[in-house]
Amino acid sequence: MLKDFKQFVPSSVCLKCDGCCRFKEADSRWRPYIAENEKKEAALPSVVDKVFGSHVISSDGKIAATHCGEGFLCHFFNSKDNTCGIYHARPFECQLYPFLLGKEGAKAVLYVHLNCPFIQEQWNSQIYKEYSQYLQDYFRKKEVREFLKHNPMLLTDYSAFRPELDHVCDIVLE
Ligand code: SF4
Repeated sequence: MLKDFKQFVPSSVCLKCDGCCRFKEADSRWRPYIAENEKKEAALPSVVDKVFGSHVISSDGKIAATHCGEGFLCHFFNSKDNTCGIYHARPFECQLYPFLLGKEGAKAVLYVHLNCPFIQEQWNSQIYKEYSQYLQDYFRKKEVREFLKHNPMLLTDYSAFRPELDHVCDIVLE
């Protein structure tokens, strides 16, 4: 299902940024969640079985963070060259960022994170508008809504970060 998902930020831009994959706290809500079927459907199943062992997944289903300097890094992040050690099997949340799946009470919502430099550069551009529409159509697909329903952990409470976010659309799961 996720094979055809189109990421907004080009990986060449991500490689130059020092924002993502780093966290202030070990239990940060910004750590990505890994859905069970993502592990099974990942592009490199044998490698993924090995790397997604229980020691790298916290009790909340998110990837564990490793202490580094004054903060924490995603277990799979290589700070020497800014790369992801499981790039071809990275979780959906990593592909989706700077768009975020949130919840407001019982409602599922899609936000965009305004701190992302690429968003600041592309804000309200034609590319942004087209991609935003692509996402709204994507989250209307039955199989995508089923995926979200089976993985409610993907919907994170970002209320503490609301000033950094812009509401893109509500997501209807039924
Ligand atoms: S899985 Fe990869 S892309 Fe996702 S947070 Fe970790 S290092 Fe970054």
